[in-house]
Amino acid sequence: MISEPIIRVALDVPLEKTFDFLAPGASTADIGRLVVVPFGTRKMTGVIIDLPEASEVDAGKLKAILHVQRALPAFSAEELELFLFCQRYYHHPFGPIALNAIPPAMRASKPVQPKRAQILTITPSGIAALPTLPARAVAQRAMLNALMQGPATAAALKSRHERAANTLALLRGKGWVIEADAAQQSVPSSGSSPSFIAGPALNADQANAVDSITSALGKFAPLLMSGITGSGKTEVYLNAVAATLRAGRQALILIPEINLTPQFVRQLALRFPDAEIVEQHSGMAEISRMNAYLHAQSGMADIVVGTRLAVFTPLPRLGLIVVDEEHDASFKQQEGFRYSARDVAVFRARQAECPVVLGSATPSLESIHNVARGRFAELKLTERATPGALLPRVEFIDLNAARTEDGLSLALIAAIDETVKRGEQALVFINRRGYAPALVCGQCGWIPACSRCSARLVFHQKERRLKCHHCGYQTKVAAKCVECGSHELIPAGQGTERVESALRARLPAVRIARVDRDSTRRRGAAEKIFDAAASGEIDVLVGTQMLSKGHDFSRITLVGVVNADGAMFSADFRAAERMVAQLMQVSGRAGRAGLPGRVLIQTRFASHPLYAAVAVQDHARFAVMALNERQQAHLPPFTFLALLRAEAKSLPVLEQFMTAAADEARALHPEAGIQVWDPIPATLARKAGFERQQLMVQADSRPAMQQFLAAWLPVVRRHETRAVKWSIDVDPQDV
Ligand code: ADP
Ligand code: ZN
Ligand code: ZN
Repeated sequence: MISEPIIRVALDVPLEKTFDFLAPGASTADIGRLVVVPFGTRKMTGVIIDLPEASEVDAGKLKAILHVQRALPAFSAEELELFLFCQRYYHHPFGPIALNAIPPAMRASKPVQPKRAQILTITPSGIAALPTLPARAVAQRAMLNALMQGPATAAALKSRHERAANTLALLRGKGWVIEADAAQQSVPSSGSSPSFIAGPALNADQANAVDSITSALGKFAPLLMSGITGSGKTEVYLNAVAATLRAGRQALILIPEINLTPQFVRQLALRFPDAEIVEQHSGMAEISRMNAYLHAQSGMADIVVGTRLAVFTPLPRLGLIVVDEEHDASFKQQEGFRYSARDVAVFRARQAECPVVLGSATPSLESIHNVARGRFAELKLTERATPGALLPRVEFIDLNAARTEDGLSLALIAAIDETVKRGEQALVFINRRGYAPALVCGQCGWIPACSRCSARLVFHQKERRLKCHHCGYQTKVAAKCVECGSHELIPAGQGTERVESALRARLPAVRIARVDRDSTRRRGAAEKIFDAAASGEIDVLVGTQMLSKGHDFSRITLVGVVNADGAMFSADFRAAERMVAQLMQVSGRAGRAGLPGRVLIQTRFASHPLYAAVAVQDHARFAVMALNERQQAHLPPFTFLALLRAEAKSLPVLEQFMTAAADEARALHPEAGIQVWDPIPATLARKAGFERQQLMVQADSRPAMQQFLAAWLPVVRRHETRAVKWSIDVDPQDV
């Protein structure tokens, strides 16, 4: 009897373990393919990583697989190698890494049969109709014009226009556009390279940067592009992407925020009219995300734009990676597989032998240090790109002396009023959503707190609710104090809602829009607000850090910062770095198009050195000072950190686990280069009913850290119980 092939499968379970199954008909060609297997009473998708000769499990006990996803391409050797790198570096199991790298639709437990790409072409009657279309038929003209360049996939056309789906249906109804047979027509992007519509003449800094990137095409080159806000980094990316496509390669662009994708894709589509541009982020419909992924993987898509998860998009012709706003904390995944997309991007560039451009006005200290050590080359953009545009003037409003209403100083309100009266726009930045971070009883001082977290409940006035921003718990606002029965419940501090309503009350004629996670929850909501701001239908934007990233609004001349002092009280050693970056970024939204910009920062600590750095807007000077301090204090980037995080319902159970983990670490007698700290409560010591603690390990070098973790984590695992959830965070961002 010929024995059936056995396959070894990695599953999305938090274990290093792999699982063997019987797989009739499987061959080594299936390594890297997705497979659906029975797991307990469930069906699960895994990756075939091997076809072993024999299994440690008795042949009689091996279960048969349900289905190999042969209609989907297998992971390539490069992708498997990338996952393996992540497994080793982040000490996270292979299965979850691989399965989280693919779109959810590909993890379906039934056979997945992706649709063939729909390729559309313009008909002779469409060509004849095009010149007769009225100017206001913008979408129809855009679609037909795009198809005049040659056939294109429906996906490519849809990436170009908001209402493309409706418009295409209309055009097909009229017989102006028909489906070309995918087998007969080649997709234009796979033939000649897509054209590029040149933008403004580059200035000397930009031209230098583009030259450095293009001359590095075809080899590994990590480049830090530090360019002040408004220095035209996007134009450099576009020119570098053009050179990449000309060389027959694909480009991957990582951006820090889903809400920036539509604007970025539109900009790309205007400049690369016949390139296929696809997106990868969690805000996409499942089917579109899978199709976009498959187009990237097949080499059909030319440009991929996405958030951190896009760093795992398979690209057989990868020729350039851009990480825009490389300092941004959103590139670090904060749960489960805690990777840094920026660092993985650098590994990928090495693997694909291509340049990786990390761009920012406020680069991370890690990247600046990498330049100092000669690991990264630096490209500098020192001036604003728009002729006449200068960095804004930064002034402080001393909250110790100023009169305020709902947290807004009268000086800031007056400045907003004047700005709007001049026909310009203002942006008010406050890094807290809701109305007020807390309610306080005016009689006894009682403050409603979350019963499941060590946190206060945030007051949302519009919905009349108190919400926990950590666990999602919410409740109606009580009419009176639970402790003393007083009806005097006072909102303390400010959030975006409060600033918005205070401004509406003071400046009733001004058109105000609020931008935060609450106001942009629905798909397309943020885009709508940003479009309205760009077309001048809005005078003042009030919002959180969603506003500080990447936007280029030409008429904003005033930026107000309501309260940025929080960083002064933070225990996190990165708080100062983040605060300076955030303030410089948000300041950078002012005066981008030649109109002089002004920034007003309300603070109680106007003479603090951090604010002095922000005032002169010299990030490089701040970085020198901050790096010096980090070196003195033996902190990253001069040392390397890993954080063991654990949580449990019972504090004694948690403490027992943490003590055991710390004892094991010390029992390993780590060499001098390793320091093991004592377990401490996490910043949020209780979350959703779980007590939380962390234990920090510090190392002088990456290899020392890796060696230590490889020895330590297996012994920690022996102390694991069902009651404790734990994980390791290599290069943690929040400590
Ligand atoms: P950054 O991303 O560096 O903050 P942007 O890329 O948004 O800056 O560019 C800022 C503005 O400058 C944009 O409106 C852009 O169109 C314009 N711009 C870029 N390069 C040039 C150039 N060479 N000449 C004129 N304007 C430019
Ligand atoms: Zn009370
Ligand atoms: Zn809570």
